[in-house]
Amino acid sequence: MFPIDQRKNWYSGQGLWGNVPEKDWNDWTWQLRNRITTLAQLEQLMTLTPDEKQGCLFAANKLSLAITPYFFNLIDTKNPECPIRKQVIPNIKESFIAAGESSDPVGEEGTMPVPGIVHRYPDRVLFLVTDRCASYCRYCTRSRLVSNAQAYDFHPELEQGLKYIESHPEIRDVLISGGDPLLLSDAKIDSLLGRLRAIPHVEFIRMGSRIPVFLPQRITPELAEIFRKHGPIWLSIHTNHPKEVTQELAVACERLSLAGVPLGNQSVLLNGINDSVEVMKSLVHRLLMIRVRPYYLYACDLIEGSTHFRAPIQKGIDIIRGLRGHTTGYSIPQLVVDGPGGGGKIPINPEYVQAVHDGILELRNFEDRTYIYPTGSKLPDPNPKLLD
Ligand SMILES: *Cc1c(COP(=O)(O)O)cnc(C)c1O
Repeated sequence: MFPIDQRKNWYSGQGLWGNVPEKDWNDWTWQLRNRITTLAQLEQLMTLTPDEKQGCLFAANKLSLAITPYFFNLIDTKNPECPIRKQVIPNIKESFIAAGESSDPVGEEGTMPVPGIVHRYPDRVLFLVTDRCASYCRYCTRSRLVSNAQAYDFHPELEQGLKYIESHPEIRDVLISGGDPLLLSDAKIDSLLGRLRAIPHVEFIRMGSRIPVFLPQRITPELAEIFRKHGPIWLSIHTNHPKEVTQELAVACERLSLAGVPLGNQSVLLNGINDSVEVMKSLVHRLLMIRVRPYYLYACDLIEGSTHFRAPIQKGIDIIRGLRGHTTGYSIPQLVVDGPGGGGKIPINPEYVQAVHDGILELRNFEDRTYIYPTGSKLPDPNPKLLD
């Protein structure tokens, strides 16, 4: 196991909740019951900027405010630019809707054959099993339906969803998400995974969850055992900044991993939060240390009220270029844009092919040196401008 003392400075501790008995603090239901959900509670813990204060009032009709005490402790309450703070504290900038932004930016509603099932790709579905999360990311792409602030009234129809998967033999891969599926009880998760495992054509089962990050206490030995029993179950966590990779997250990931759960990470490229090589490099290095393989780096979807979060895509490309070759290949996520309106995930890569001509590939490496590779066949030129 990774030497624990090298992670000592990852320990976040009980912080502002130092007087709470350890037994309660480590109990995920205590963390949920004691979430910060109102402006008044928040103001007892920190001084908000005027924009944040207004944002909290606005949040009631947009996307609820909720922060677990554990995650709140990661916020630098003295710094309005804190990368953790900006992810979960509402801001009145969320009320600004730019051209092109919508409440369903990746067109999920159009590809829902039954409530909760998004069937966009030929061989796999997204299965939304709850509308609740432990905490709410302010840039949430599903803010229309999570937390029920917008009266969308999403009632996940587990039975209908399961019937749909059962009757579609082309579905070999099920991605369980929400909301956050790990907010379901152990019994429900056990039964859901059992039902899916019983479907002969379902080969691959995975979950997307930010619970290990917002509420690592939820990853109990009992839950890990459920994953082991129905395994292999793959799981993608969602971290954006190295500060989120704490001792507590490390313990949760270790427990999942030792129960045979392969772990990935999804990040969203966020303005002023992780839009630099330095921050992303530190994040992905920490993820490897806790057995998590970076999977996707998403351009921020065009969700209503997310303008202040969106970083230029060039920054994403620069990040990938700054990682590839410079550090461990395993640590490099795939940068993707989720095609607005329902195009699915589209990879965006730095260009390493400078030109193709006369059966020759002109390549540039990570240090910007040019290399020639004879392909022996004519390929279409990816970048004809350079041929002059
Ligand atoms: C992201 C997503 C998937 C999974 O895509 P992968 O590239 O296989 O990870 C499946 N369905 C929908 C609707 C998605 O948005």
